[in-house]
Amino acid sequence: MSEEILRLAGDGIGPEVIDAASRVITAAAEAEGFTVHFVDGLIGGAAIDAGEPPLPPSVAARARDSQAILLGAVGGPRWENHRPRPESGLLTLRQELGLFANLRPVRVFPGLEAVSPLKAPRVDLVIVRELTGGLYYGQPRGLNDPDGPDPEAFETLRYRRSEIVRIVRTAFELARSRGQALTSVDKANVLESSRLWRRTVDEVAAEYPDVVVHHQLVDSAAALLVTDPGRFGVMVTENLFGDILSDLAGGLAGSLGLCPSASLGSGRQGLYEPVHGSAPDIAGQDVANPLGAILSGAMLLRHSFGRPEAADRIERAVERALAEGWRTADLYTGRPGERRVGCRALADRICALVA
Ligand code: NAD
Repeated sequence: MSEEILRLAGDGIGPEVIDAASRVITAAAEAEGFTVHFVDGLIGGAAIDAGEPPLPPSVAARARDSQAILLGAVGGPRWENHRPRPESGLLTLRQELGLFANLRPVRVFPGLEAVSPLKAPRVDLVIVRELTGGLYYGQPRGLNDPDGPDPEAFETLRYRRSEIVRIVRTAFELARSRGQALTSVDKANVLESSRLWRRTVDEVAAEYPDVVVHHQLVDSAAALLVTDPGRFGVMVTENLFGDILSDLAGGLAGSLGLCPSASLGSGRQGLYEPVHGSAPDIAGQDVANPLGAILSGAMLLRHSFGRPEAADRIERAVERALAEGWRTADLYTGRPGERRVGCRALADRICALVA
């Protein structure tokens, strides 16, 4: 049986890291006795260059029917003044598919302690960010009196209980599967939406008596992520807080190039992408770190295809390659035992280890 993946490589380093991830996914599937095949589509600047909108209607339609979408990155200086911007293709895709839960695992891999900014990095957590509500989508929003003496801009922060329930359930399930506590992050001392959030978390918690729950205010959560990240397992929070905290947590790993993500809805469908952007400064040079894309592939196999053994294979191979000293430029510190390699060579090594 062959599983289909919609592949949207996008712009900049997107095609390089997605090629690496595709080869590793294929190797892991073969090793586990099944096959995958890829269907390619355009998104972002690549779509614009082909005379299409950032999310071509044919790609949106295909995405709606796809269980699993693997995406590289979109955007870059070439399309700086293009309207709509390439990035709008990705935002529309996430929203059209109802992918309300963004999962970002962050860990410091053994051997990579030196690239983390922390002195004693003990990090193995997942941030679950609400992705389709809150301040980024709330109405009304606008700009009053734009050319007047004192223009006023405003957004609206709204959450319905049902929106909170579904993201919080996703986080509880994850905390249960990882055997970790759940930390819910809010600003309940100030915001009404956060008070509803906190109350809802406590209500949903009754369905998960085996999961320990803590509430943490977002400002202190930010400080604790830097001073004591080891205390966190799964964190769940609303859109804006999650946007900021997940990048902060990603910074703890030491390189943006290491971090995978999954955007999920209520079923098995998912959009999997490294958290980094299109990195135009290094595009086309075979120096990009493909691990964020490769680990996103592992998340795809686990969640959308229900193939945890293939996902484990990839994660073990990544750990092994790092333990052997294989390093792309962003991870290379020049210490003894390190071997500086390009994107393709690292993917080749991981394919060999996966098999
Ligand atoms: P970026 O993530 O592309 O790059 C930031 C820095 O990290 C750069 O120095 C880059 O070289 C480095 N970097 C990123 N990924 C790397 C990797 N895999 N290996 C090694 N180094 C890596 O962020 P940016 O420069 O702010 O944005 C560039 C473009 O990407 C912009 O157009 C932005 O809108 C877009 N972007 C897209 C996404 C997405 O598609 N999800 C996310 C963020 C930014």
